[in-house]
Amino acid sequence: MIVFSLWSLAKEQQQTRNNLESIMQIQLSIDSLRSQLWGFLQYEDADMLKQVSAAQQRLSEKLDQFAYSDRHTRNMIRMNENLSVLIAQESKYGQAAMRMEGKMSGRDLLHARYNMLVQNMTEDLLELQRKKLNQSRENQRLTLILAATNLLIFSAFVWVFALQIYRHFQSGFKALKHGFHELSQGKLSSQIETNHLDSEFVALADLFHQMKSALRKTMISRDDLQTEVHRQTEELKAQKERLLFLSEHDYLTGLLNRRAFEEHLECALIKARRSGLKVVVLFLDLDKFKHVNDNYGHEIGDELIRSIGERIHHHIRTADFAGRIGGDEFVICLNLLESVDCIEARIQRLSEEISQPISVNDIQISVGVSIGMSCFPDDAASKQGLLSHADQSMYEIKYEKRSEALNISDVV
Ligand code: GH3
Ligand code: MG
Repeated sequence: MIVFSLWSLAKEQQQTRNNLESIMQIQLSIDSLRSQLWGFLQYEDADMLKQVSAAQQRLSEKLDQFAYSDRHTRNMIRMNENLSVLIAQESKYGQAAMRMEGKMSGRDLLHARYNMLVQNMTEDLLELQRKKLNQSRENQRLTLILAATNLLIFSAFVWVFALQIYRHFQSGFKALKHGFHELSQGKLSSQIETNHLDSEFVALADLFHQMKSALRKTMISRDDLQTEVHRQTEELKAQKERLLFLSEHDYLTGLLNRRAFEEHLECALIKARRSGLKVVVLFLDLDKFKHVNDNYGHEIGDELIRSIGERIHHHIRTADFAGRIGGDEFVICLNLLESVDCIEARIQRLSEEISQPISVNDIQISVGVSIGMSCFPDDAASKQGLLSHADQSMYEIKYEKRSEALNISDVV
């Protein structure tokens, strides 16, 4: 619009320049005609008259070339035509005719008419020039006003358009901000409403939704991972506990193994030393257990050992502990005893319990047991001493049993 206005201004100025140029050409022609007339009126020469006529012809051409038609132009053309008629008469009748009318008055009258016509033409030309300049100034003013008005209208349109863009941007920005706020609150399932958003914000919202969905998948797999880690940790813990149990217990009976039994015994002795109480160690060895294996098989033998382990476990008190330290060898620690008076009876009862028939695969099997004992601090002060003493005691009992059995068979 500004370019169009500038172009219009330039065009108007060019038009004004052309008009002024033409007016100046006409002015020069009028000046030339005036000077030729002056010369003719001074010398009244036929050659001079021809030059006046030529000057008038040039003026006539200039006026014809001047395309603009208005009152002043028409006046100048008319006056030029009058001048042409005068010059024609001048050349037709010559000086003599004029002298007939009276020398001084004819010349003066002609002089006055010529001067009046030229003067009038000059005045009309000046009027025309002023009029042209005013018209040009008015046109340029209108062009500038039009340009300014257009610029204002255009600015208003731009302002409305910018406001509209700003509102759209605000709306999109608010929607995205809300989405990010929801995300910061950990709401991964919320969606950004894209119906009223511009395409740029719709693209951003789509990317945002993709990011959320990826995040959701990552979170889910992280939960799975946590569950798996927790499950494996629990499994490892259980395995560790199982290994710890196996490292301290006999796999078949669940009683303490030799090493764990000795550790427990050591602790029991420390407490007994502090408390002054007694500790009894019982050493048990099944009688003729090989025969069970030989007659019923190793698996049945295992089952028997497991059952005897259970009986021992149920027999002892909470403070007591028991272990399996060999194939068919068991040890029991009767802990924190004030006296050993009733031990013999307990050993008898234990022996009877163990010897009760055990049903394995519908087979009733019973095995005898030899039980030796040692007492802290009466028989020994150390665990090894106690175990050796109880072992020895057990062998003596077993030996006695064998001897009795031999004697009975000899008698039989
Ligand atoms: P004794 O009366 O002299 O004790 O004779 P015994 O047959 O019991 O023989 P001994 O105590 O010397 O040997 C124990 C036997 O127990 C040896 C082996 O055949 C058997 N045995 C050892 N460990 C296991 C086991 O874990 N399972 C089974 N089924 N048998 C075992
Ligand atoms: Mg045995």
